Amino acid sequence: MAKTILITGGSGFLGSHLCDRLIEQGHDVLCLDNFYTGNKENIRHLIGHDRFELIRHDVTIPIELEVDFIYNLACPASPVHYQRDPVHTAKISMMGALNMLELANRLKCPVFQASTSEVYGDPEQHPQQEDYWGNVNPIGPRSCYDEGKRIAETLFMDFRRQYDIDTKLVRIFNTYGPRMSENDGRVVSNFIVQALRGEDITIYGDGSQTRSFCYVDDLIRGFMLLADSPKEISGPINIGNPGEFTIKQLAENVIRLTNSNSKLISLDLPKDDPKQRKPNIAKAKEILGWEPTINLEQGLIKTIEYFAQKVK
Ligand code: UDP
Repeated sequence: MAKTILITGGSGFLGSHLCDRLIEQGHDVLCLDNFYTGNKENIRHLIGHDRFELIRHDVTIPIELEVDFIYNLACPASPVHYQRDPVHTAKISMMGALNMLELANRLKCPVFQASTSEVYGDPEQHPQQEDYWGNVNPIGPRSCYDEGKRIAETLFMDFRRQYDIDTKLVRIFNTYGPRMSENDGRVVSNFIVQALRGEDITIYGDGSQTRSFCYVDDLIRGFMLLADSPKEISGPINIGNPGEFTIKQLAENVIRLTNSNSKLISLDLPKDDPKQRKPNIAKAKEILGWEPTINLEQGLIKTIEYFAQKVK
């Protein structure tokens, strides 16, 4: 049945893909964004669609709307962006979650939270499983985001227990694909843009740290499966691709697939940069029947095509 669905952060990288999928399914989409990191280009093709509405608003301020489902995605998510105004990042994570939970409580509607693998910090368990409590520095440069997302998880579980709200928590691992912003400093977009321009590929540290990269379409499919799951399913559920690569391997793949002459250079490793990250997705498989279908090479090819149109 067609629903009216609110997506906070709807013009961001992930939010805009979710807007597309939900519109395709026949839903009415309210895309809320303050364009701090969201990009109008990502949703320009939807403007004028009769089931799409755009609301300029900051989630730290309460808002009254009538909707059937809320996806709370609003938050700067790349280290470069979330560390630019860390106080606001903490505020968005906490106040945004609280405001959306209060709206959901008033409407008695389900609410979905985009949480993050950053809640595991620099993990001592590998791969990371949902019942691992994490190894997070509460006072470092990443804390505004990590701890902000952790208190948001706490609020989600407390609203469920205290007010019987249908809450859904997903923990997102590194995701990439078309509509990543060219200058948000993320490793996949940085490397592809550098390779296409023939610039040096900036490896932070020795490049031995690992990440597991999920293609955006796989991730959004996981979101929607969790959103459609019965009320008893709260998560948290890891959604990510367990294929694990060192940052150096990623750089080599990007150079090969772009046919670039770029050289690898080593820069300082940022403080508190997690050494390894890989999801255990047993829960997503068992509960949602979800697993990724697009491997790194296939996803990089699609992402390179996107950036090749943008980067001159
Ligand atoms: N990184 C890198 N070069 C870059 C950007 C990032 O070597 O130009 C590294 C970064 O230090 C981290 C990994 O790539 O180890 C992933 O960084 P990203 O900012 O994409 O996401 P994170 O997982 O750290 O949130």
